[in-house]
Amino acid sequence: MTELETMADSGLQQQYAALSRQYDEFKAKKLKLDMSRGKPCSEQLDLSLGLLDCLDRTDYRSADGVDCRNYGGVDGIPEAKELCAQILEVGTDEIIVHGNSSLALMHDLIVRALLHGVPSSPEPWKALPVVKFLCPSPGYDRHFGICEYLGIEMIPVRYTPEGPDMDQVEELVAQDAAIKGIWCVPKYSNPTGITYSDTVVNRLAAMPTKAPDFCILWDNAYTVHHLTETPDRLLNLLTACKQAGHPDRAFMFSSTSKVSFPGAGIAMVGASKTNITWLKKQMLQQTIGPDKLNQLRHIRFFKNRVGIEMQMRKHAAIIKPKFDAVLSLLDGTLKDSGLASWSRPVGGYFISLNTLPGCAKKVVAKAAEAGVVLTAAGSTYPYGRDPEDKNIRLAPTLPPLPELKQAMELLILCIRLTSTEQEMTKRGLLS
Ligand code: PMP
Repeated sequence: MTELETMADSGLQQQYAALSRQYDEFKAKKLKLDMSRGKPCSEQLDLSLGLLDCLDRTDYRSADGVDCRNYGGVDGIPEAKELCAQILEVGTDEIIVHGNSSLALMHDLIVRALLHGVPSSPEPWKALPVVKFLCPSPGYDRHFGICEYLGIEMIPVRYTPEGPDMDQVEELVAQDAAIKGIWCVPKYSNPTGITYSDTVVNRLAAMPTKAPDFCILWDNAYTVHHLTETPDRLLNLLTACKQAGHPDRAFMFSSTSKVSFPGAGIAMVGASKTNITWLKKQMLQQTIGPDKLNQLRHIRFFKNRVGIEMQMRKHAAIIKPKFDAVLSLLDGTLKDSGLASWSRPVGGYFISLNTLPGCAKKVVAKAAEAGVVLTAAGSTYPYGRDPEDKNIRLAPTLPPLPELKQAMELLILCIRLTSTEQEMTKRGLLS
């Protein structure tokens, strides 16, 4: 029962008039705020300024003496592989450190699979009349964008508090050989903030699949992005897959995009030796090598895993107050209203907000009309179709705190206004 359902018609009409007035006042302020994408703020970017001048004119050789100014080394310089292997918790022979974008690595992996198949494929995926991917939702819009762009049919999968609904996943993959993969953001998930439980990881690793070349695209983008001193722990998928007898099922990705500079970080992929050997061979057709100087810069600047962890504490000190502000505004205004629910992430970049069914698109449109851009409603679902039209992804990191608070006040107002309109329409008080 929502607070609106308990109100008399007259009370509802009065509330509607008051909320509409407040909304018009907001519009008159002509705000121009953006809470749409999970970008670091400039204070966070300043943390990595040392990357710009940490190499001098004599410092261009990797640990094995390779001149990083020149071509070569498609799988990355040894010290970058060592550091990234620690991040993904794999062996140095189970990793490729590449260019600036993990999303590009994911995209290219699927293209390779379509054109040639992965090592365990009986045929290229393109030989099939249809290729399908499981998409735990709400999820990351750019994963869904890759599938849509490449003509891969997306099947939404429900979330539980422990990760994807494994009963649903297991049933689907056991029946349908066209299901070739699943998208996973296993830690501090985008946008739900969920970290997959050990049970979920083990079931993903062990489940029988009709497709012999089923792949788990394990996008561990937020693996070191903690907001508290008691980080979530995630079981290692590759280890679980090896133990379950499916070593080639796991493709694990990450990058330093939100550790150093988005767009100028280093990206990595971890997988079985078989998969890494295959990937390296494929990549050599595409490039003579990645930007090794940038890899060297990251090594000089961060030095080791501890250096990364220290940097992430500094990030958390900047962004945690923003997450706290969003949560305290939501708690203070909507907590017992029944009009919305939201996640309380302990890491990552997002808060996932659910309005009443049928309200999210209108809320986002109203906020936009009053000058606050939110992530498009529906974008956290395959094809942009949220079946209940209720999920909104909030990205608190970019705006300065005062602006963030203003944006949240407007968002909360839009939620109340839209829910009130919906209740009035239901009662025939508004047409
Ligand atoms: N994966 C997830 C889950 C993300 O949220 C993001 C950034 N928003 C990316 C990948 C992009 O990573 P990269 O910059 O390494 O391409």
